Amino acid sequence: MPAIAVIGGGINGVMSAWALARAGHEVTLFERDTLISHTSQASSKLLHGGLRYLENGEISLVRRALADRDWWLTQDSKLASPLAICLPLYRHARRARWQLKTGLWLYDRLAGHSALPRHAFLPPSVLLQNGDRLCPQQLLGAYRYYDAQMDDAKLGLWAAEQARAAGVSLQEHASVSRVSCDGSLQLGGQQLQFDAIVNACGPWAERLLSQSKIACPLALDTVRGSHIVLARPLSQGYLLEVPDERRVVFVLPWQGQTLIGTTEQRQAPDAPVECSAAEASYLLRLYQHYFGPANENEICARYAGIRPLLKSAHDPNRAQREHALIAQGRLLSIFGGKWTTSPSLAREVALRVGQQLGT
Ligand SMILES: Cc1cc2nc3c(=O)[nH]c(=O)nc-3n(C[C@H](O)[C@H](O)[C@H](O)COP(=O)(O)OP(=O)(O)OC[C@H]3O[C@@H](n4cnc5c(N)ncnc54)[C@H](O)[C@@H]3O)c2cc1C
Repeated sequence: MPAIAVIGGGINGVMSAWALARAGHEVTLFERDTLISHTSQASSKLLHGGLRYLENGEISLVRRALADRDWWLTQDSKLASPLAICLPLYRHARRARWQLKTGLWLYDRLAGHSALPRHAFLPPSVLLQNGDRLCPQQLLGAYRYYDAQMDDAKLGLWAAEQARAAGVSLQEHASVSRVSCDGSLQLGGQQLQFDAIVNACGPWAERLLSQSKIACPLALDTVRGSHIVLARPLSQGYLLEVPDERRVVFVLPWQGQTLIGTTEQRQAPDAPVECSAAEASYLLRLYQHYFGPANENEICARYAGIRPLLKSAHDPNRAQREHALIAQGRLLSIFGGKWTTSPSLAREVALRVGQQLGT
């Protein structure tokens, strides 16, 4: 049975290891810290198609992400559930009503036979009934659509348990210092040999190659995204335009509180990954703009993670969210990828490794 090493125990490494085990390989996963302890537990907690990626023309990504979203919802994890999200429509907003309507129509089409409800228009009288205190001035109504929400840390560990049950050996506190295209890797003082290696180091994928003296054919843009949590409840999700910017920010119900995110700040993956005071104020101001007064001392938590984005655009907001798989001998590196799309990415990894091995 071919022996495969997966390096990185974020959602992409875990799902890839699980898919490789299901394909009949003997799989060992090496994680330098603990499983699902970095980017994969610092997300916006959405299993989504990525409505806003339609503006960047990423149609096939959105179609695949919607199918993956529905896959997660059909699993027996009990850690993901449908979430209503409203796109309020204000007079003088940057995006016109017809643009939102077109995007949502397309989103519904791309979702195919999804069990989630289609989008609908809500007049202000209905929208303002829920106690969320959305600003009523200049409000024309809202489009409501559905995606899903998860507990990313727990769902990632659930996936790791599935991988373990399928036979994957999960090794934590196992930092790989070097890989080679012939299938060998360096772990502490040991040199280990595998038939194939999958580099699933997320934002650190490029660094593993450079410290192994392997030329990297792709560059990653590492972009920090921060969230704050406000100690007040919310009845449903909102996707809101940031005033005077092209960006949008989510305001979401989360465990009886309100999760607000995210930001986009380029940073090196090895610098401390923390929500800065400036990011927290930016997110609080956005909340206040739409929901009225909120005090800084209501912020009960804040966190940050680093997106591993393919370097393609000057503005990280426009950077594509697609992933790329790069094969170099017996080494396959994953660049980019969303939490939601980890199941389809993992199937692709298993297929590519199978092709590399000629199995
Ligand atoms: C702010 C933010 C919000 C997001 N929101 C969403 C969302 O709502 N929905 C969605 O679908 N996606 C979202 N994403 C994207 C998603 O979270 C990431 O794309 C995904 O978690 C990346 O997973 P990963 O496994 O590639 O990386 P990671 O989770 O970072 O895992 C990589 C792992 O590799 C390990 N590692 C690194 N180097 C080594 C080494 N040498 N040896 C051993 N192990 C090593 C690290 O310790 C780490 O655990 C968001 C991202 C961010 C930053």
